[in-house]
Amino acid sequence: MLKRVFFFAQHFLLPHLKWLIATLITGFIASAASGMGVPLLVKFVFPVVFFHGVGEEPELLQMVPSLKELEPGTLLLLACASMPIIFAIRGFAMWANSVLVNYLGIRILTRLRMQMFSRVQALPMAFIEGRQKGDIISRILADTTNVQSILTHVANDLVKQPVTCICALSAFIWLLVDSGQGLLFFINMIFVALAAWPIIVFGKRISNKARRAQEGLGELNSIVQQNLETQREVRAYAMEERQIADFDSSSHKLCRNLLKLVKYQRALIPVMEVVTAVALTFLLVRGRMCGMTLTDFVAVAAALFFTFDSMKRAGTAFNHLNQAQGSLVRLEEILVEPDTMPDPEKPTALPQRVRGDITFDNVSFAYENGKTVLRDINVHIPAGQIVGLVGPSGAGKTTFACLIPRFYDVTQGSISVDGVDIRRVLKHDLREQLSLVGQQALLFSGSIRENIALGRPDATDEDVQRAADSAAVSTFLESQPQGMDTVLGQGGTGLSGGQRQRVAIARAFVKDAPILILDEATASLDAESEREIQQELDALAQGRTTLIVAHRFSTLRNAHRILVFEAGRIVGDGSHEELYASCPLYKELYDRQGIN
Ligand code: ADP
Repeated sequence: MLKRVFFFAQHFLLPHLKWLIATLITGFIASAASGMGVPLLVKFVFPVVFFHGVGEEPELLQMVPSLKELEPGTLLLLACASMPIIFAIRGFAMWANSVLVNYLGIRILTRLRMQMFSRVQALPMAFIEGRQKGDIISRILADTTNVQSILTHVANDLVKQPVTCICALSAFIWLLVDSGQGLLFFINMIFVALAAWPIIVFGKRISNKARRAQEGLGELNSIVQQNLETQREVRAYAMEERQIADFDSSSHKLCRNLLKLVKYQRALIPVMEVVTAVALTFLLVRGRMCGMTLTDFVAVAAALFFTFDSMKRAGTAFNHLNQAQGSLVRLEEILVEPDTMPDPEKPTALPQRVRGDITFDNVSFAYENGKTVLRDINVHIPAGQIVGLVGPSGAGKTTFACLIPRFYDVTQGSISVDGVDIRRVLKHDLREQLSLVGQQALLFSGSIRENIALGRPDATDEDVQRAADSAAVSTFLESQPQGMDTVLGQGGTGLSGGQRQRVAIARAFVKDAPILILDEATASLDAESEREIQQELDALAQGRTTLIVAHRFSTLRNAHRILVFEAGRIVGDGSHEELYASCPLYKELYDRQGIN
């Protein structure tokens, strides 16, 4: 655990070293004022207040004889004032400390979330696809908050409470040794050791339960997220009851884990309080037997109380640290997840605009689950060629297209663009040369204009307008309340499927990249919308190397060449006429559609 805490402290506490030091100093002052201030006040200052000039002189006056030269009234005033002074120092230090702790916490949380989010952007697609989205969201939002609240309060308490404990224990030792009670000291040390035991025992259990609870929260998040994303299907298939039952079951699981967590967390307090009471009673009995004065007893008891109290608080902090451990592990899985597709250290620069010549050289590919999806692919696509990819569902067409933007790395062989292996260039530079229009146009919340300009952030209003004209976005702008500035909901709600697709095409026009991938871009549209959009797609493809993953053969009328995929291999390569004559699979697929 310490290694993990150290890792997070190094990355998230050290950058705020200045504030951390200020937090620790104020914490130290507050701790010393409680741990040592109060017992010493009882032992040395109170006897001065109650000294009426008869009997043995208070110790403080013996130790500092110059105090005796003061007026009795002034001495009394000073002695009485020492208590509010110590408590004022303690109060101010505690206030400053808690403000600083919260300040530090907020800064850490911001940094932690930022790093998590940026890390997710950098990790390979396979990492994200292999996990529940709701769980990733839970890690970025809930686990970071958990770690923030715990790290800050605990970081402070883990320093403050041991300091209080050491101060109180030193006062305790001093007071006992001073009054010749060495044995009492040793026996009480046994109680101190006894009090540390439950902290260690409960700690481990808390860590396990906390991790399960956070996992449960992630699971719950996934259910909610999936449910919201699939509301149409849920209602159409009357799945509401089943969804509620799933949520209920996960929610109960989370509830059980949280209750177990609370049980172990809270167990520490009663155990520690019983140990404290036994130790104090023992001190009381032993003190009475040894003829200890009441003042000495109260001072020693105060020191002992602060020792146990700070141990209890440190123990609670340690428990919280164990609770944070559950979240830390989940954050670590993203933060230190190795990037299996890093950018090269010495990247080859691509020209500002590549020609778009693509070569697959002996490429095989398997997803993380190990199933080989593409086998021994050797294909050269010259710049500017429009290539259709056809084949049965699951044959590997989309995967083939997704290898070009390096969404995944080939398992064997290489892919090059203009003769440069795509693993030798920066992913960002490579993707600058590509536009992708998928089956479902995913639009972001923002205006239509912003959605089009996403393709090129420096696009001028004229560029956006030209792209909108080319993609026939302009035809439906009039029906939008604010035209180009109409704000869309997340996912493009407010537009029809065809309209959304047009915005996506306009985005590709604005980007004007030399390589274009159309992945079943019209598959989700009705025949009428498809026919309308086909014109814009044909215009977009002109002059670019274009790969069209085709669902319907009608989308391939402008293709110069067609690749036929079957079970991860290319089994046909040529023009429509050539393939119809020579490739039985192509002929079968084509005839089956019977639309042309
Ligand atoms: P096509 O586009 O020809 O329908 P795909 O390239 O989408 O085929 O899929 C090819 C095979 O790869 C299928 O068996 C599919 O189940 C599998 N596959 C696709 N995407 C993934 C993924 N992200 N993770 C694991 N397997 C996948």
